[in-house]
Amino acid sequence: MATNRTFTMIKPDAVRNGHIGAILEQINAAGFRIVAMKYTRLSQEKAGAFYAVHRGRPFYDELVDFMSSGPIVAAILEKENAVADFRTLIGATNPEEAAEGTIRAKYATSIGENAVHGSDSDENADIEGSFHFAGTEIFA
Ligand code: ATP
Ligand code: MG
Repeated sequence: MATNRTFTMIKPDAVRNGHIGAILEQINAAGFRIVAMKYTRLSQEKAGAFYAVHRGRPFYDELVDFMSSGPIVAAILEKENAVADFRTLIGATNPEEAAEGTIRAKYATSIGENAVHGSDSDENADIEGSFHFAGTEIFA
């Protein structure tokens, strides 16, 4: 089951810039099914915990401030090979390096404000999905 799921967030920049609809459309068109979704805002504390792996990196404080700066859309997505296929769909972390047509190439404004998050492994997809959703909020 875990191998077919990934976790995503539409980040505060993309929400502010009015791209929720277009991004969800592209996610659906690429064959992902939404099994959980919410519109919410991370506290500084929750954003810090979510990106705890980056604690100590030079961009950590900026990342936490940014991720708690406004509402996000959090979702669990299902598809064959979900983690890798979603990373391909969103493109490189730095939008200047993201392949043409990818979500980050189209909607990200900088390496820090890069429109979407995508889990980097099946294990993290599981952890991140559970971080945001109770079992009763996931519709298999
Ligand atoms: P994400 O985990 O959000 O999907 P990613 O896996 O492509 O992104 P990570 O290395 O996990 O990239 O970095 C997490 C986030 O931290 C990035 O998406 C970006 O918002 C921010 N970030 C990473 N590197 C930098 C940097 N050099 N300068 C500023 N922000 C950065
Ligand atoms: Mg990452």
